[in-house]
Amino acid sequence: MTSSAPHGTDAGAGGPDQERATLTIGVDIGGTKVAAGVVDAEGAILETTRRDTPADDPVKTADVIADAVRELASTHDVTALGLGAAGFVNADRSTVMFAPNLAWRDEALRDAMEQRLELPTVVENDANAAAWAEARFGAGRGEDYVVVLTVGTGIGGGIVVEGQLLRGRFGVAAEIGHLNIVPDGRRCGCGLQGCWEQYASGRALVQEADVAALQCFDEVGRWLGRGMAQLAAILDPGVFVIGGGVSAAGELLREPAVRAYRKHLTARGHRPTADVRMAEMGGEAGIVGAADLARRR
Ligand SMILES: [Zn+2]
Repeated sequence: MTSSAPHGTDAGAGGPDQERATLTIGVDIGGTKVAAGVVDAEGAILETTRRDTPADDPVKTADVIADAVRELASTHDVTALGLGAAGFVNADRSTVMFAPNLAWRDEALRDAMEQRLELPTVVENDANAAAWAEARFGAGRGEDYVVVLTVGTGIGGGIVVEGQLLRGRFGVAAEIGHLNIVPDGRRCGCGLQGCWEQYASGRALVQEADVAALQCFDEVGRWLGRGMAQLAAILDPGVFVIGGGVSAAGELLREPAVRAYRKHLTARGHRPTADVRMAEMGGEAGIVGAADLARRR
C-alpha cells in the first residue's frame, strides 16, 4: 500500500464524523528530515509535509515537529500523534534515551509535544514503527507473528508476536542487526565484532564490491538467510518481511536468503517454514506505523 491508496480521501465513505474518530498523525524523525502525515484507520496517508531536521538542537527539533503537525492538524481533525524516532526509546514510550544522529539524550519528547500541541502522543523507535506498518498493512498483514528486516546500510527491523510489537522490558528489543553471526568477525560500529549487519546489509555489499554485483547479492542473501534461521529458532514467525534500500534487488536477494534460511533451519523438513516476502509499504512506512501505534495507544 502506498500514499495513493484509493480508499482514504477527505470525503471518505464515513463522512466527517468517521474521519474525526479515526485520523491520527505519524511523524518519521530522521537525522536530516522530519516527515509527517495524516493517516486513516486503514493505513492510508491523506496528506504529508516535510521539514529539515535541526539535528544539533533538541528544542528546535521539537519546534519543527510541532510546526509540521500544526500544519496537518489545521485541515484534518486528528485525535493522536505518533512519533518514530531514530534512537532508543524507553519502555513507557515517552523518552528518547539516546539517538546517535540527533542531539537527544534522555529527551522527554512526549511531554515536549503534549505541551506544544495538546495531542496525546506516543514515541516509538523508527524501525519499530515502520515494521509495525508492514505487519499491519503491508506484506505481513493478517499474520500475528512477523519479523520485519529493514536492510539498508545496516539491518534494522521489528518483531510482532501475538499481534503485538515486541518492545522488551526496557523498550529496546529487536536490535536484530547486532545478532552475533561470526565469532570474532568483522568489527561493527556498535563496538562488537561479527554482527549480522556487517555481513547481510548494504555495508557488506560495499565490502564485497570487488566481486561481481550478482555474486554480492547472493552472498548477502545467504548471510541474511542464516540469520533468519536463528531468529526462527527463537521466534517461530509465520512471515519474514524484507524491506529497506537493499531489498530493491528483489529476487536476487530473496532467493538466496530463502535457500540459506531453509538450509540452516533447525529440524528442517520436519516443521512448517515461514514465508519470506518483500516489503510493500515503501518509504512512508514509518509515518503509517507511528500513526497507527498512536491510534492504538
Ligand atoms: Zn554491532
